[in-house]
Amino acid sequence: MSLSRLKEPAAPPSSHFQNQEQGEELLRLIGRLYPICRSLTGSGVRETLAILRDYIPLALHSVRSGTPVFDWTVPPEWNLRDAYIKNSSGAKVVDWRNCNLHVLSYSAPVKRTVSLSELKRHAFTLPERPDWIPYRTSYYKENWGFCLSERQLSSLPEEDYEVVIDSSLQPGELNYGEFFIPGRTDAEILVSTHICHPSLANDNLSGVALAAFLAASLQREPRRYSYRFLFTPGCIGTIAWLSLNEKRVDKIHHGLIVACVGDAGKIHYKKSRRGDAEIDRAVAQVLKDCDAPHEIRDFSPYGYDERQFCSPGFNLPVGCFMRTPHGEFAEYHTSADNLDFIKGECLMDSLNKCLAVFDVLENNHTYVNQNPKCEPQLGRRGLYGSIGGDAQGKTNELAMLWVLNYSDGRNSLLDIAAKSGLSFALLETAAARLLDAGLLAAGENDAGAKLI
Ligand code: ZN
Repeated sequence: MSLSRLKEPAAPPSSHFQNQEQGEELLRLIGRLYPICRSLTGSGVRETLAILRDYIPLALHSVRSGTPVFDWTVPPEWNLRDAYIKNSSGAKVVDWRNCNLHVLSYSAPVKRTVSLSELKRHAFTLPERPDWIPYRTSYYKENWGFCLSERQLSSLPEEDYEVVIDSSLQPGELNYGEFFIPGRTDAEILVSTHICHPSLANDNLSGVALAAFLAASLQREPRRYSYRFLFTPGCIGTIAWLSLNEKRVDKIHHGLIVACVGDAGKIHYKKSRRGDAEIDRAVAQVLKDCDAPHEIRDFSPYGYDERQFCSPGFNLPVGCFMRTPHGEFAEYHTSADNLDFIKGECLMDSLNKCLAVFDVLENNHTYVNQNPKCEPQLGRRGLYGSIGGDAQGKTNELAMLWVLNYSDGRNSLLDIAAKSGLSFALLETAAARLLDAGLLAAGENDAGAKLI
């Protein structure tokens, strides 16, 4: 796979069609996952993981409630069977079966008759968006509550209401899915995404579906790197995984959190805490080379699970790949983050860019110039001016000169791309030609990695 596929005009109609078809498949998976009531734990998470197993052979893991994981404790399992608000004539004025955002996630069970003013103390609305239902959680503080549109709430007359939340908070388990694709070496690229949100499409069924499709695509042929995919409940799921896998995190050479990847906004990439990790430079290179609008941000200790992977005790090279970041689109954490908000072509664009980042990492080798004393004679080897006398031929020659000069065993192709301003694909082609001509040899790559 090469970066050229990112340039849309170059894509032949057949691959464009394939892209469209794949975009629709992604939307189909999201459509299957959308109605499920998910939270940090419970049957919704298990149902979600079971559906993902139709796409990739995920390993399912469980951690018992009450298990200490670093400074945290795995919470009780939450399950919800039904929830509604009935008025005094017995009509349901709010029904969880119509929208699973209606119940505050992790709500304690309740079955009582309350006045309107008491109901209002347990009701969450968005007055500035009177038709939208907010998504709210109360994971670590026991509470009960309903989320509804401002219009619904304000239409309720002064009377008594029967509130029923038929939920359970009991010892159980936290579930997550893991899929490992062995490569030629045990050095890993990690992809992690959160699976704990209910009917919200961009945050984060888009990330869940994207990760599943990335995994399905990468498992078709073995690569230099091994790939590890994690589908975890946000925060506590990742903390649990890190706690159980602390001894092997040094295998993670590069990592991406994927979230909010289906909206029409431009790509945003949040760098790892290290700031200059190879993953940070690879993403920046891909975004520059494909000339698409994008924004790269520095690490901050707020956001998705990069917070855990980049906590100072781990400081792993894990960045966060998004389109519009969380909290920066009006639909975020509301019922308007629905299936209409995400687009197949945006999901495909995100998928292709992630694959392009992995291609750069796979091919970011360090070489050693075998003829380092003065420039080698390219013409004698059929390399000089051999690719037409046009501007492209000149650029190709320039790429060879950059690769030859900086291939001293210390600079990778990404380093040379940054110095030269040339595209990674161009330098990769130049390196392949020089390697063929015997002018380059492979340098030290994948320090510390073992062949599998
Ligand atoms: Zn969220």
